[in-house]
Amino acid sequence: MEILKLIDLKVRFSTEYGIVRAADTVNLEIGKNETLGLIGETGCGKTVLGLSILRLLPENTTVEGKILYQGVDLLTLGEDEMRQIRGKEIATIFQNPLTSMNPALTIGTQISEPFVLHQGFKKKDAMQKVIEMLKQVRMPSPSERVKSYPHELSGGMRQRAMIAMGLACTPPLIIADEPTKGLDVTIQAQVVELIKELTTKSGTSMLLITHDLGVAAELCDNIAVMYSGEIVEYANIKEFFKNPGHPYTQGFLDSLPSRGLKPMNGMSPSLIDLPEGCKFYPRCPSAMDICKSNRPEMVEIAKRHLVRCFLYV
Ligand code: SF4
Repeated sequence: MEILKLIDLKVRFSTEYGIVRAADTVNLEIGKNETLGLIGETGCGKTVLGLSILRLLPENTTVEGKILYQGVDLLTLGEDEMRQIRGKEIATIFQNPLTSMNPALTIGTQISEPFVLHQGFKKKDAMQKVIEMLKQVRMPSPSERVKSYPHELSGGMRQRAMIAMGLACTPPLIIADEPTKGLDVTIQAQVVELIKELTTKSGTSMLLITHDLGVAAELCDNIAVMYSGEIVEYANIKEFFKNPGHPYTQGFLDSLPSRGLKPMNGMSPSLIDLPEGCKFYPRCPSAMDICKSNRPEMVEIAKRHLVRCFLYV
């Protein structure tokens, strides 16, 4: 059975400017030991989707559909039950440890929390577990570092501490949101290697949210492309790079330095004021009349390779 399955997930925010449609009828699944990459431009709804799984969205949010974690719909659970899920069953690695870690607590105290809360360790024993975790993420001088505050560490060290916190309880699923953002290239490569090694060793499944296709290529088994709140393409990693089907994916790949640095036309539409038909219509070089007022469904163009586009109908 899949670890996570999203069924017709819709996430909306009510704001004074109108309804923000951050995720629209999203269907996705992640299998055991699988890493699914969720890619797309900034503001397309990727992070919101990750936060909706953990039920960490503000009160002005409406979530519809199903979020099945090991068969249980997380949307039906109470807050106490969700607290048992977060960190123990589904953990997170956020993109900016300096803002997502508590600046007033040492990293030892913060990493030890899951051991105390979810595994019943006494504080002293939990600290020993933290030192072991820091060794695993190759933090220099782990016994000393447990006493450090986040601001006393380098960017790479903070991200290692964040990974240690995420993997502390060996969760079956981890949501990693831009885990290498802001790190220089050498440290980024080390962090990617570390995540790969630790998740493979522990058999952890991962939802990797990123706009960095290099990181996705290193870590993912499958890729889902998100555009304006919708999944527009899904494929396994090899097929994705070999045979990208959606015009948006093709434009995204062509804009990479390694593929000619060709910029895509226009900008993503506002999630408050989306086009009526295909959301990519205003920017699409292959647009047809039908695309203007009709929403394309996902079409299977090869085995387990799905594309939301009228070109394949
Ligand atoms: Fe382009 Fe039409 Fe396909 Fe949308 S449905 S991506 S507008 S060709």
